[in-house]
Amino acid sequence: TETLHIVGGGMAGSEAAWQAAEAGVPVVIHEMRPRVGTFAHRTGDLAEMVCSNSFRSDDDEQNAVGLLHWEMREAGGLIMRTADAHRLPAGGALAVDRDPFAAAVTAALRAHPRITITDEEVTELPREGHWILATGPLTSAALGQAIAAETGAEALAFFDAIAPIVHAETIDMSVAWRQSRYDKGETEEERTAYINCPMDKAQYEAFIDALLEAEKTEFRVGEASSAPDPTPYFDGCLPIEVMAERGRETLRFGPMKPIGLTNPHAPETKPYAVVQLRRDNALGTLYNIVGFQTKMKYGAQTRVFRMIPGLEEASFARLGGIHRNTFLNSPTLLDSQMRLKSRPNIRFAGQVTGVEGYVESAAMGLLAGRLAAAEIAGRTLAPVPRTTAIGALVAHITGGADARTFQPMNVNFGLFPPLDGVRGGRRGRKDRYRGYTDRAKADWTDWLAGAGAPAATTDPAHS
Ligand code: FAD
Repeated sequence: TETLHIVGGGMAGSEAAWQAAEAGVPVVIHEMRPRVGTFAHRTGDLAEMVCSNSFRSDDDEQNAVGLLHWEMREAGGLIMRTADAHRLPAGGALAVDRDPFAAAVTAALRAHPRITITDEEVTELPREGHWILATGPLTSAALGQAIAAETGAEALAFFDAIAPIVHAETIDMSVAWRQSRYDKGETEEERTAYINCPMDKAQYEAFIDALLEAEKTEFRVGEASSAPDPTPYFDGCLPIEVMAERGRETLRFGPMKPIGLTNPHAPETKPYAVVQLRRDNALGTLYNIVGFQTKMKYGAQTRVFRMIPGLEEASFARLGGIHRNTFLNSPTLLDSQMRLKSRPNIRFAGQVTGVEGYVESAAMGLLAGRLAAAEIAGRTLAPVPRTTAIGALVAHITGGADARTFQPMNVNFGLFPPLDGVRGGRRGRKDRYRGYTDRAKADWTDWLAGAGAPAATTDPAHS
């Protein structure tokens, strides 16, 4: 059997290696630590948790990340099994005793008869063989440059400047309205692509005050300087609070400019400023606040953004931030099998594909490991249903997300196809979430049962 090479033994690489080895494929993990370090990792262990020790909610009936836990457990995931064995009391969350956890993952992989671990840094894109690149948000500079040379620099980000993302159904449309600036666009859909929230002068002034007063997070030592470009902020990515510091009117002439927009709820009054939200996924369930990348602390963000008329009750799929984070523009670069379209011998997995979080990264490793193992065995796995948490994430990164505004994504129910065509309103939230998780569990169970069998089509390149 051909060997699967995995670069990076973090959350994604460790799980990918385990899945492929359990499927009978020999695996080599190329992990540069401890020989070459990163600014965030402290040890040479695989699957080190670099910051918090939480896998977030373990509720597999009401929470999308809890559902992801469930799906990975059902698939015999090493990361989940080890996290469960090193669980710390934390209410409904799955908190993990990080050092024994990483040590146990490392030991399990080292003990596996089909897994070899080397401590080399990979600096080139391999031309031959089966590879999974799972080098994470802190991909080494040399490899980052090799990836950028292949994909084009604009398709690889080194920072993410994240604007907050809102669940569309929580926007008050009796205040907000749909309209593109100057009604631009060929189709009705394009002419109404944005949701607009109006502010009068008093609201704008209060909003600027709140931005200036809000608590901010600082760049960590090494975070900025370990990037190829040491400047933390670059064109188009200034945090809104930095813009506000430059002058009280800066935002009104920048992302909050009111021109080219008419409020149908008050056609006679010109808004003093307008906050625009842009559709973030094909389903239309998520909207990002345009130009609102920020370094405000999470608590402050929720408070300040709910001052925006129409967003008083907003629920956020994710909050904003600016971090060192290497990730691909996956919707344009990867095929549905997570392969680099221009070099299909290479798959990507983990945070570098544009998912966010330990659990999401491990989940994408689990899938990539299974896809690669099947390919080596001459089979092509059926696509994972989008109704599952793993299927919803992979569909988002490989095509569902808008490539122009692509930002790393946590798993959330906004990525799932609506239930029975019903969105929002008619079912209560608890009922709806239970509907999502019940449907996901049934579909994941079916997919896992079918995944062992050959799919209808066999990839001729590998048969
Ligand atoms: P990693 O776990 O980082 O694994 C990638 C591995 O690849 C590393 O071991 C690295 O040494 C190795 N590597 C890199 N380049 C090369 C190379 N060229 N050759 C060989 N090996 C290489 N997520 C959360 O859920 N909670 C948090 O609290 C959290 N905090 C974070 C804090 C920071 C500072 C960062 C950067 C990220 C954080 N994340 C957090 C996001 C993310 O979920 C984690 O980084 C997660 O570990 C990503 O998993 P991964 O497998 O994709 O990457």
